[in-house]
Amino acid sequence: QKGSNGKYTVTLIPGDGIGPEISESVKAIYRAANVRGDAPVSSCVSDVPIKVPIQWEEVSVNPVLKEGKTVIPDDAVQSIRKNTVALKGAHDRWQHLVLGKGHVSLNLTLRRTFKLFANVRPCVSIEGFKTPYDDVDTVLIRENTEGEYSGIEHEELTLGFRKMSDGMFLSACRQVAKDFPDVTYDEDLLDRVCLQIVQNPKPYADRVMVMPNLYGDILSDMCAGLIGGLGLTPSGNIGRDASIFEAVHGSAPDIAGKGLANPTALLLSSLMMLRHMNLNEHADKIQKAALTTIAEGKAITGDLGGKASTQEYTAAIIGKL
Ligand code: ATP
Ligand code: MG
Repeated sequence: QKGSNGKYTVTLIPGDGIGPEISESVKAIYRAANVRGDAPVSSCVSDVPIKVPIQWEEVSVNPVLKEGKTVIPDDAVQSIRKNTVALKGAHDRWQHLVLGKGHVSLNLTLRRTFKLFANVRPCVSIEGFKTPYDDVDTVLIRENTEGEYSGIEHEELTLGFRKMSDGMFLSACRQVAKDFPDVTYDEDLLDRVCLQIVQNPKPYADRVMVMPNLYGDILSDMCAGLIGGLGLTPSGNIGRDASIFEAVHGSAPDIAGKGLANPTALLLSSLMMLRHMNLNEHADKIQKAALTTIAEGKAITGDLGGKASTQEYTAAIIGKL
């Protein structure tokens, strides 16, 4: 809901590792978009001002001690619950909440708290940025809260569990597919899909792939590799109570704090967020500024083969805005 100042409040969770750096970059780009949007109408080239009607409410989800257990801080949970939309930097996947007798991953707890069962991961070639593939356009939906991936995080993986969860997932898909006769439903195996996508990704442009947790983790990293790497792929965790947008990549501790991180994946995640909020024109403009910066190749980060720092790349995007 819009506040009295005409803006939507969105929760921002910078996180750890490269999370704070890439969050800073996204904030800077939105700040710049707002300043330009404030310029007199006569000096605006386009009809729609870029000014994005959102404001960030920054919180930390780092576990705190409460009655002998560690939990996600109340104010963070309240903020996400109230705003229903959040942008999340990155979190060390191995961060755990220590419960009475066991522990559970922070990421998984967030997903379960807000019932974020579907992780939507689009992956699209960037025009003008050369990779061995120039026509990747996949969308993958990864089940987010169950399956053997969460099993790994609980250390309870067995082969029998794997087979059982696959069967359950299939029967659920078949059942739901019956309710949507306009959607063509088809089944395939992960290994075959991997082979087919790397041989020719084009046929995957007109379909959506839905899969259990672990398969989604693997296949989305593979798709990211086809378009230029993990620095480029966004995602949205869509649930009943809230939606949290975040990059596909993790906290990249190997490059954290060095100004090397590529903020594009988080920026594109924030644009998914804007589109989720029906702020499509705003998203399109910022996306154009980012993608043309990458296509020009003058100020791109090391993961894309360039020499620019996070800040220099950010400044180049702001220049385009
Ligand atoms: P996690 O367990 O959190 O998924 P991971 O070990 O898979 O962690 P990632 O954080 O996903 O690691 O990163 C994998 C590799 O990709 C690392 O070498 C990292 O430096 C690189 N990488 C990830 N994200 C970015 C980014 N935004 N910019 C540049 N390099 C990145
Ligand atoms: Mg990873």
